Amino acid sequence: MKKVYKSYFSHDPDPGWSWPVEISERFQAHSVFEMSAGYYFEPESAEHSAFLALADRLRLDIFAQDLVRVSGKEVSDYPYYRLNGKVDKEYEKPEYMDWQSRCAGDEQTMCRVGGRQHTKIVFDPARSKSLDIMELPEQINPHIYIISKRLKDSLHEHGFTGFRTVPCLESQNRFSQSDLALEDSSAELEARANKFQLIVTARPEHPPHVRRIRIRRRCTSCGTVYLFFGGGTPYFERGEPADTDFQVYHSYQSENEGTFDIAGRVCVVSTRFIQLMEENRFTGLELYSKTPPIPYGVVPIH
Ligand SMILES: [Zn+2]
Repeated sequence: MKKVYKSYFSHDPDPGWSWPVEISERFQAHSVFEMSAGYYFEPESAEHSAFLALADRLRLDIFAQDLVRVSGKEVSDYPYYRLNGKVDKEYEKPEYMDWQSRCAGDEQTMCRVGGRQHTKIVFDPARSKSLDIMELPEQINPHIYIISKRLKDSLHEHGFTGFRTVPCLESQNRFSQSDLALEDSSAELEARANKFQLIVTARPEHPPHVRRIRIRRRCTSCGTVYLFFGGGTPYFERGEPADTDFQVYHSYQSENEGTFDIAGRVCVVSTRFIQLMEENRFTGLELYSKTPPIPYGVVPIH
């Protein structure tokens, strides 16, 4: 039985908005993610009622979402999860994205749609975290996942599908401009690399559904939705996504606004991948664990 909780988030669009201290102190144990993005409760609990009463007294403009908590025991109940790696800030820059073809945006939105990665990722191995999977910071379109050689070899050995890998470079090694180009690779670079970028290539045939939503911000040049509220937990149609282990999507189908593109790319992974990570004690998965605050997967709830 999946456990469904009620969670609450603020409608306030101000990015600097935070919960009043009466809430954040009292309900710390109920916070969604460590940064108190919102709060979640068992529907019938006294804490839930107390939270709602206090939110009402403080006149907070909040909305509710269903939230499904995942524990290690139930891992096989879910066919796929959202993929989140821990973030590593210690990668070297040169700028690996080419923004020339990106959307012009509008007065409110610096739109990043249309950017394209053009170089490989370069690391300083002495500073980089040695996790088996990591993400680069602030990069959501696409997310840039970096995996260890050990994890890469294991994915190939077990026949995982829906991705390709590109070797990363290390800053203390010499490399040429052609080595740096994303799509140029050689057996030597492959053999020498300790880290690889995992690029998800498969897509579900139909994007997942959300229910009724309210769009708060949309780029007027390209129509990409940057902020929306409501919708509940996204769910796929029956039979989707297919048996592919790694898949990426960038839009939702909603009940009242049709299909719309979102600013980020969302990667989902099969249960098999989560099991591989657990069984081999591969490190670096974020937002998946046996204890709260790990409430989110992209899961079907009906
Ligand atoms: Zn745009």
